[in-house]
Amino acid sequence: MNPSAPLPDLARLCVHTITTKPWTVETAAAKFAAAGVKGITVWRDTLEGRNIKATGELLRDHGLAIVSLCRGGFFPALTPADRQKALDDNRQAIAEAHELGAPLIVLVCGAVPGQSLVESRKQIQDGISALLPDCRAAGVKLAIEPLHPMYADSRSAVNTLGQANDLVEAIGSPLVGVAADVYHLWWDPALQREIARCGRLNALFAFHVCDWRTPTLDLLNDRGLMGEGCIPLRQIRAWVEATGYTGFNEVEVFSTRLWATDQDDSLAKIVQAYRDHV
Ligand code: ZN
Repeated sequence: MNPSAPLPDLARLCVHTITTKPWTVETAAAKFAAAGVKGITVWRDTLEGRNIKATGELLRDHGLAIVSLCRGGFFPALTPADRQKALDDNRQAIAEAHELGAPLIVLVCGAVPGQSLVESRKQIQDGISALLPDCRAAGVKLAIEPLHPMYADSRSAVNTLGQANDLVEAIGSPLVGVAADVYHLWWDPALQREIARCGRLNALFAFHVCDWRTPTLDLLNDRGLMGEGCIPLRQIRAWVEATGYTGFNEVEVFSTRLWATDQDDSLAKIVQAYRDHV
């Protein structure tokens, strides 16, 4: 890189704690801030055993915006008792987000092998609707994250941005929108149109980036850094920004390969990949 060239702006770079999974949230906060990262999305497991309010203060003291809490969801279940358990856990997540000072919870909506996707989507809609009074009281919004159809068996019955937009419309609350993740959505021929629709619904709450490696060796934990795969990141980012989106670009990479490397090197690569490819 030409050292005299202006560096691309990191003002909208957010990194998920899961991306640097070996680090504690405290280490991630210090390292992210030192690397010029401006936002952090916190995964709930990193908060275990901590004073959540104090952790939020620590993150803000590092100059980091707390973009969202990951994650809630998993609404569908075969019995009412299990669906109630899911609601209880989501209410706990809303309380945690409030304490942390996170304005948004990302939802992996859930699915049950053997239960129809139509029924699961109904249970998802009912579950989200039941949480709205809690969200209102806590000042926390919910973002439905559509997941790639390879996860339709057990992780999410919401598999396209079109389905997520349909749910947002059906629920009809300004507290409920969408987290658009390129890993899940890049293949969809309707993507440009549905991103524009999401913008018209004022529902584009979050934008997650990474890349799709060929071959993908693991369905969950083999995501690529931006530029390592075949996702047209700049094209999709342009569609997102055409809606007026001014939020963070969130780097969310689950990768056994990257987690096994030195995390300082990994973070430097993340920042460079963001500059070069997002
Ligand atoms: Zn995501």
